[in-house]
Amino acid sequence: MPNKNLEATPRRLIFFGKAEKISLLTSFPLVLSFLLCYHLFMAKRYYTTEKLTIGKAVTLDGEEFHHLKNVMRTRVGEEVILFNGDGNDAYGRVKSLDKNSAAIFIDKVIPCEHEPSCDVTLFQAVCKGDKLSLITQKITELGAKEMVVFYSDFTDIKDKTGKLDKLERVSISAAKQCKRASLVKISGVVSFDEMIKKAKELDEVYVAYEHHQGTSLIEAIKNTAGKRVGIIIGAEGGFSQNEIDKLLNQKIVPVSLGKRILRTETAAIASVATIIFTMEK
Ligand code: SAM
Repeated sequence: MPNKNLEATPRRLIFFGKAEKISLLTSFPLVLSFLLCYHLFMAKRYYTTEKLTIGKAVTLDGEEFHHLKNVMRTRVGEEVILFNGDGNDAYGRVKSLDKNSAAIFIDKVIPCEHEPSCDVTLFQAVCKGDKLSLITQKITELGAKEMVVFYSDFTDIKDKTGKLDKLERVSISAAKQCKRASLVKISGVVSFDEMIKKAKELDEVYVAYEHHQGTSLIEAIKNTAGKRVGIIIGAEGGFSQNEIDKLLNQKIVPVSLGKRILRTETAAIASVATIIFTMEK
């Protein structure tokens, strides 16, 4: 026999009775203030190129100093975390602050727990506008190790430098946000042949080919645990036949990213995410 009272009860009341609702309402400000305090008092991360040694002081200047002093309004005695890209977090305290720099005394250096445990390289054809910047930001967050930018036959842009000099700053800022302690190593812009040479140094390399109807990326990477993996992504115009032939001659495996054609930046980010989510334990 169905319980008539229960049937008549609005669904949400089954989960939240009056008492639970009241306690939820009263605990809301508490949770909110906890989150606010956590955000305010959690040690903030800063990037330095200096060596990080326990018992020594590091000088922070330039953009990172501006962020520490003028944006975060950090005071002498407060705890901060420094990283220099070697995969470690250095915990320290602000010893002194002046107009242009801060001295941070290092108390402890430990391996960063947010470091990626897999080795993934993106080979990205140089592309228009700020797309490389977007790709750098997202693959830093996702945990890529390296990005090699290359020219391709259908690259259709005037400025072919890829503005790579700006990308390190993007990776630093993304690393600070996602709490990793290493940056994406960025190189290029290299020729198509140079890119193939670099790709062949890895254990497994795939090319995302928009006209490939066979193996999907997700199937191809099933057995790549512990290997150094690379994925090659074409520019807005895709690959020329000559380029695809070169890749296939080098036994680079073509893979599909599904039945829709993705923009180059979507393809890059989705591929790196797929590989890292599959490989990382
Ligand atoms: N101009 C090409 C066309 O219209 O067929 C599309 C190139 S797509 C915008 C840019 C790059 O993203 C491709 O060269 C490829 O590396 C990757 N890509 C996009 N969609 C893909 C898919 N469904 N499968 C495999 N690779 C894809």
